[in-house]
Amino acid sequence: MVQASLIDGRAIAAGLRQRVAEAAARLRQSHHVTAGLAAVLVGDDPASQVYVRSKARACTEAGIASFEHRPPADAGLAAILALVDRLNRDDRVDAILVQLPLPAGVDARQVIAAIDPAKDVDGFHPVNVGRLWRGEPGLVPCTPQGILLLLRSVHQDLAGAEAVVLGRSQIVGRPTAALLLAADCTVTLVHSKTRDAAAVSRRADILVAAAGRPAMVGPDWIRPGATVIDVGINRIALADGRRRLVGDVDFDAVHAIAGAITPVPGGVGPITIACLLRNTLMAACRRRGLPDPVQPAA
Ligand code: NAP
Repeated sequence: MVQASLIDGRAIAAGLRQRVAEAAARLRQSHHVTAGLAAVLVGDDPASQVYVRSKARACTEAGIASFEHRPPADAGLAAILALVDRLNRDDRVDAILVQLPLPAGVDARQVIAAIDPAKDVDGFHPVNVGRLWRGEPGLVPCTPQGILLLLRSVHQDLAGAEAVVLGRSQIVGRPTAALLLAADCTVTLVHSKTRDAAAVSRRADILVAAAGRPAMVGPDWIRPGATVIDVGINRIALADGRRRLVGDVDFDAVHAIAGAITPVPGGVGPITIACLLRNTLMAACRRRGLPDPVQPAA
């Protein structure tokens, strides 16, 4: 049996990070501007701390300034909004990232809505969501943007492809559907109320799995030869007590039938961080009326 080719997210991300670093250096030399990303981490959630640390490291490697703000878990909405307001007005800050989830009792929607849309590096502000669906330039969420870059490494032209997205969250499923639609795919969103998700998924030339359910997608969900992007990051406990990271796709079984597939880890994760750097640089340029620094757009 022919096995799927592996979509190497690490290699594709390394190429993008290199291009971002070169563009950041050009921005410094030509315009004396160092792009800056501010991360706001409320409380001490261990997984969020790891994410924010790795994003800060990636910024440093790309020549982007990073600023970290860590209000305590009980800081309260008013203090967080005041911090966001300060960052909106700080000219060293081109991009603001509020690490989710926020502690219980803090309304993430209010915090996101307070970010200047021009600095909304995650692309979650309603203005950027609207621009994405209208096909207007804005800041596009990083994971969906990365998913499209991975798909374009396999498919030169996505027009007319049947694309199925498992999951309809604001941060992955919906924006990914918007980008696939903009690329002229025929798009179906599958969610927890979908009747026979496996049968719908079997129609897909392109399947994006973002349900947060370990190994939910088996070979009976796959049209032979389909391209499968596994967004899931699930930590499962093994029999010996150790923990392992798995995606939403049963990798070994699906690998035997798909045309191309992303691994977990090493697929969507690395390209997401590369797109965060790219968005930061893009925000820095757009705020100053300069052309977009890193092509191609997703
Ligand atoms: P989420 O907000 O929990 O959304 C999950 C979506 O999947 C929901 O729309 C839900 O449907 C749907 N769903 C859940 N169980 C289902 C089932 N059995 N059948 C069909 N649909 C089902 O999750 P998320 O934030 O989008 O994240 C999804 C996964 O991607 C997680 O594992 C997350 O860790 C991972 N992730 C990875 C990256 C990365 O950089 N690699 C970035 C972000 C997220 P309903 O809407 O009906 O509830």
